[in-house]
Amino acid sequence: MVTKIAENIYQAVVPLPNNPLREINAYLITGEKNLLVDTGFNRPECQAALQSAFDELGIDKADIFITHLHSDHCGLICQFAKEGCTLLAGETDGELMNFEAGNLYWKMLDDLFLKYGFPKAHFGRNTDIHPGRKYCHEGRVNFTYVAEGDVLHYGGYDWQVVETPGHTPGHMGLYNQEHKIYLCGDHILGTITPNICIELGVENPLQDYLNSLKKVEQLDVKLLLTAHGTPVEDMYGRIKELYQHHEHRLAEVVQILGDKQKTAYDVAKDMTWEIMCKDWESFPAPQKWFATGEAISHLQYLFHKGIVQRVEQDGIYYYQNK
Ligand SMILES: [Zn+2]
Repeated sequence: MVTKIAENIYQAVVPLPNNPLREINAYLITGEKNLLVDTGFNRPECQAALQSAFDELGIDKADIFITHLHSDHCGLICQFAKEGCTLLAGETDGELMNFEAGNLYWKMLDDLFLKYGFPKAHFGRNTDIHPGRKYCHEGRVNFTYVAEGDVLHYGGYDWQVVETPGHTPGHMGLYNQEHKIYLCGDHILGTITPNICIELGVENPLQDYLNSLKKVEQLDVKLLLTAHGTPVEDMYGRIKELYQHHEHRLAEVVQILGDKQKTAYDVAKDMTWEIMCKDWESFPAPQKWFATGEAISHLQYLFHKGIVQRVEQDGIYYYQNK
C-alpha cells in the first residue's frame, strides 16, 4: 500500500521478513519521469510489495536513486531497472555495491572483522547468514554517479544531492529546499539508532557520521522522510538525541575497557544492547556482527581522538585506555 506524503511523493512500505528492521520505506516520486528511492531486499516478498506500489500508482517504470549500499536499500535494483531508466548512486557506495555482489567483498569484510577480534570459529557461518549477503542484488549495475551539489528534477521538485557518510562511507540523501523536505535514507531514524559500523577502506566512521549530522543540522527541514519507521517530526531534536546516544556509548566503551587491553569483539560483549537475548552467546550471529561493528566504530573514534591507544598483536587490534 502506498501513502501520499506530499504532492507527487508517495511512501511504499516494503516488508523485510524475519529481519529486526521489519520494513523499509521506499519512496516514489511521480511525474513525467518517476523516481524510486531505495528498493528493499532481493526477496520475492519485497519485490511483490514494491510492484504492487507501482501498480497502485499506475506507473510501469522509474529511475532509481540508492541512498546507500545496504542490501535492504538496493537489493531489487536489477529487477526494477527497466529499459531507459537511470540508476543513480554516489560513486563510493556504487562501487561497493558492485563489489558486494561478488564473494571477494565478503571475504575482505571477514578478514577485517578478524582484525578487530571477531573469533575465527564464528566466521563462515556468520557471513553465510548475513542478510546483506543473502539478499544482495545480482550482477553489476551500470550506475550514473551523482555527487554533492548535483540537482535532480523529479515530481516538480528540485532535489539536491547531500553526501552524508557515516552509516556507510558513501551514504546520500535528497533535499528539496523549497518545501523543506529531506529524504535521509538511514542517516537519521526516528525509532532506532542508525548502526555505525566499520566498512572496507574506512578508518573512523563515527567521526564521519557525526560530521554528517552537523552538516544536515544546517539544512532547513520540515519533513524528514526516513528509510525505516515513521517520518521524524523534529529532525533537530532527533539529531540532539543521536549526539547524546553516541556520547553515552563512548563513555560506556571507556568504562568497559577499564584498565584492561581488549579487542572490539570483547568490548561488544559487555556493551548494553536492546536486543531480547539473555546473554551474548544467545545473540543471533548477524547481531553479533552488527554489535561488533558498532564497538569498532566507537573504539576507532576514541583512538583517533587520542583517548585510547591501539596496539596490533598477531594481526589483531587491542585497545587500552591511555
Ligand atoms: Zn542501512
